[in-house]
Amino acid sequence: KGSPKLSSNAYFDPEPLAKDRTQIGKENATLVMLVRNFELKGALLSMRLLEDRFNRHYKYPWVFLNEVPFDDEFIEKTTLMASGETFYELIPPEDWFPPKHINIPKFKLNLEELYNEGVVYGGVESYHNMCHFNSGYFYRQKRLLNYEWYFRVEPDVQYLCDFQYDPFQLLRENNKLYGFIIAIHEYERTVISLWDAVQGFMEANPKLIHPHNAINFITTYESDLNKGHTVENLNSSYNLCHFWSNFEIGNLEFFRGEAYGKYFDYLDRYGGFYYERWGDAPVHTIGVSLLMDRDQIHHFEDIGYYHLPFMTCPKSQDVLTSKRCICSANGPDNVQINVGMEMEKFSCLARWWRYGSGKLF
Ligand code: GDP
Ligand code: MN
Repeated sequence: KGSPKLSSNAYFDPEPLAKDRTQIGKENATLVMLVRNFELKGALLSMRLLEDRFNRHYKYPWVFLNEVPFDDEFIEKTTLMASGETFYELIPPEDWFPPKHINIPKFKLNLEELYNEGVVYGGVESYHNMCHFNSGYFYRQKRLLNYEWYFRVEPDVQYLCDFQYDPFQLLRENNKLYGFIIAIHEYERTVISLWDAVQGFMEANPKLIHPHNAINFITTYESDLNKGHTVENLNSSYNLCHFWSNFEIGNLEFFRGEAYGKYFDYLDRYGGFYYERWGDAPVHTIGVSLLMDRDQIHHFEDIGYYHLPFMTCPKSQDVLTSKRCICSANGPDNVQINVGMEMEKFSCLARWWRYGSGKLF
């Protein structure tokens, strides 16, 4: 006889979009992703992991940013992947394209030069817009004005451990303003004149530099061992260390504040986002390191994370097991993933341990 055919349809949620998206987390915070329509697959991968590892317990909203409208497929699939509310925002052209003072023929010429020199992304025009936007505009997008905290997410990244706590709450309760996970060296060719610009800014605005800053994390000079951390150390130079900004959890009011605003405007006048290829990671890092109390910068050492080509995982066995970490990322077949990169020469973490907050040495 056999049993009647079971229909699983009865168990299938016919209206997943109507699910309860009421925020559970207590912070005024959002996840934010700058992304292009064709990156949908990677966006879903990142979302899936972050939702499963963290956000489904908190239902923080997602804000998606793009300089062209998101298409219907992108909107539908990401909305279904999110546990919280989703917002799709169009970046105004004046926030995305080069500002008026940029000499476009000079920009194009330098693009060609950067391309010929093989500088990573140097010849890609949109990459310059992206770095410029992430450096000085993301936090002032209209939708983000509603929030105090952001968690930056990129397509194709992987979160390898359960969070088991709300990172926004952790930052706020511990008086932190910026959290990172990986710190490495920047390609020197992309930031040739960045430090000159920063020095100009510091000389013009000494009062904006925080007296308890992290300048010794980002500069190296001969006698740096016993010096104080003050603006007097002006003839030091940038050591290329930066927090990798594809993972960032931070305070939007810091970026919207007077100090960072003046800092960004000063750099913007210099033109290096276009004539060179200043990345938003070194620009954020230098801003955070100079304008913030270094004790307000937090290293999330208990979160596993992968962004090509680096992966990092907590070191303690207790943490690895209780947070259900899977410390093997799935990268493209032809790419070697660097594991345990914290101890490699290109990592700046040892320098952070020495000169940042929570010193080990
Ligand atoms: P990488 O991490 O430096 O290799 O650069 P990515 O290609 O990952 O770009 C960094 C972030 O900016 C990612 O979130 C991208 O989706 C986003 N992005 C890069 N270029 C553009 C662009 O032209 N438009 C939009 N909307 N997003 C971009
Ligand atoms: Mn990326």
